[in-house]
Amino acid sequence: MKILNVFTAILLGLLLLTCTNISKETEPKEVKEWAIALHGGAGYYPEDAPEERTQAYREALEEALSIGSKILEDGGSSLDAVEQTIQYLENNELFNAGRGAVFTSEGKNELDAAIMDGNNLNAGAITGVTTVKNPISLARKVMEESDHVFFAGDGAEQFADQTSVERVDQEYFKVQSRFEAWQRRNAGTGMILKEEANNGWKMGTVGCVAVDKDGNIVAGTSTGGMTNKKFGRVGDVPIIGSGTYANELVAVSATGWGEKIMLNVSAHTLASYMKFKEVSLQESMDYLVGEVLNPREAGFIAVDKYGNISMETNTGSMFRAAADSDGKKEIGIWSND
Ligand code: ASP
Repeated sequence: MKILNVFTAILLGLLLLTCTNISKETEPKEVKEWAIALHGGAGYYPEDAPEERTQAYREALEEALSIGSKILEDGGSSLDAVEQTIQYLENNELFNAGRGAVFTSEGKNELDAAIMDGNNLNAGAITGVTTVKNPISLARKVMEESDHVFFAGDGAEQFADQTSVERVDQEYFKVQSRFEAWQRRNAGTGMILKEEANNGWKMGTVGCVAVDKDGNIVAGTSTGGMTNKKFGRVGDVPIIGSGTYANELVAVSATGWGEKIMLNVSAHTLASYMKFKEVSLQESMDYLVGEVLNPREAGFIAVDKYGNISMETNTGSMFRAAADSDGKKEIGIWSND
């Protein structure tokens, strides 16, 4: 009788163990060789925006995606893929990063960027730079060539002096349509004109996450910040764990209302939820976008070490694109695309 009880207990134990494993089985059967996702900002982009404008965004997203995908397909590193994809977006004036950055309340352009390598938890970030053509590259240099993680303002410029990053004068960043939008906003009621909304005026931060054939996971983000930001305002983007984060499991890049993203330590929240609850990337993303942040606050892209991709926003739209080694290729603007 006793022996029977012991057997029953063992059997029950085994059954319980199997059930637990099933409920926690979040790892996909297939691991992709590489995967990449990018965003060009979240906000509200009207569905009746001029077709040529929408087409220009789609083409830019497609081009950025092909740059990163090619690097990964050829066996390059996720660090290079993220940096070069973001460089392209920074150089494209459609986006609020690098050339095309929005204006501060004083009519200047002050740029923020960060990059993080999930495999060694190393990161580099800069804020308030005014002469660096590609802030993402300076962030990478902070990570690889300095003993520090985060440089601000004059200090970041001084660090840039010691590196080979390309410098430009302030005029380079001044895109006329953005400048006029800023002038109108400053002169008027603060309302956004319809054509400004149509132009994606409030959107355009850029980000990229990627996992390469060696399994290295990287996240990067670059922005001009929020229009009319006040003296010295730092957003979520260069704050490691808020707008940009990567660990051995997942890489995340954010866009949207920086203050809200920061207050929720958003990118790190997604990574921790996934790691400690042992749930899937999509479940963690749904928790962050649906339960942590309020509607209309932010959007995120993320890739996990298996090559799963998630891109979600609660703002109505987010310029985004993704691809992987299985042939996936996706470009989207509105939430329901
Ligand atoms: N999150 C950025 C910031 O607050 C802005 C954006 O993504 O549009 O600086």
